[in-house]
Formats: sequence, structure tokens, C-alpha cells
Amino acid sequence: MASSTLLRMAADCIFCRIAAGTIPSTKVFEDERVLAFRDLHPVAPTHVLVIPKEHIASTAHAVETHEALLGHLLLVAAKVAEQEGLAKGFRVVTNTGADGGQTVDHLHLHVLGGRSMTWPPG
Ligand code: IMP
Repeated sequence: MASSTLLRMAADCIFCRIAAGTIPSTKVFEDERVLAFRDLHPVAPTHVLVIPKEHIASTAHAVETHEALLGHLLLVAAKVAEQEGLAKGFRVVTNTGADGGQTVDHLHLHVLGGRSMTWPPG
């Protein structure tokens, strides 16, 4: 990992540690900017998290310079869905803040699939 990426890690952030490889994960995709790995507590037959390697606390903390990275995250989510065989459809969710149900303060997309989703979410 580039030293500039290491500098942008947040202390005590579990997803920064996963991105750095100091906490193990089941990776399904990785490139220079993002990592996708299986959620530890899946709520669907396929449940993958897509994170930026750079620490961004949440969608609400993203700024204009993150624009390309945010687009890349979504494209990787679609690539993961294809890789996982979710041809019938899938859901991409990013929980933000307490009311949004966010429990890990490092921006992440949930890619959920393998079953029929309901709406509205709880
Ligand atoms: P949030 O609630 O939207 O912030 O999502 C956080 C997700 O991270 C939850 O679905 C957790 O199950 C998942 N999670 C927490 N720790 C780990 C881990 O160490 N590996 C993989 N997934 C994790």
C-alpha cells in the first residue's frame, strides 16, 4: 500500500485495518482504491461490503475531491454483483449516521443479493 494511503488511515478504524490487511477478511475484489470483502454477519445469501481504502467516515463526510472515488465504489459494487452471479438483481445500501443505522464509521456500500428484497427497509 502506498504511504499516502497509510497516512489517510484513521486510528482505531476496523475497516482501515481490514484495508491494510492487519485484520483478516474474505476478499472478493481489490484494486488500488477500494476493497470488497464479505460481511461478517450476512443478512442475505450474498452480502459484500465495498470500502474505499482511504478513510472517509461516512457519505456525509465525503467532499468534492472524493467524487471520482465515490463513482468508482458504485461501479465496483456492480462488478461484485456480476461476479457473485446476481443477475436477477441486487441492492446497494450505504447507512449514514445514527439514524441511518451506521455502526462502522468508515464509508461502505453493502451489496446485498441472492433473495428478493422488500421495501421500505426497517
Ligand atoms: P453498518 O451497520 O452499515 O455500519 O455496517 C457495518 C457492517 O460491517 C455490518 O454489516 C457488520 O456485520 C460488518 N462488520 C463489522 N465488522 C466486520 C468485520 O470485521 N469483517 C466483516 N464485516 C464486518
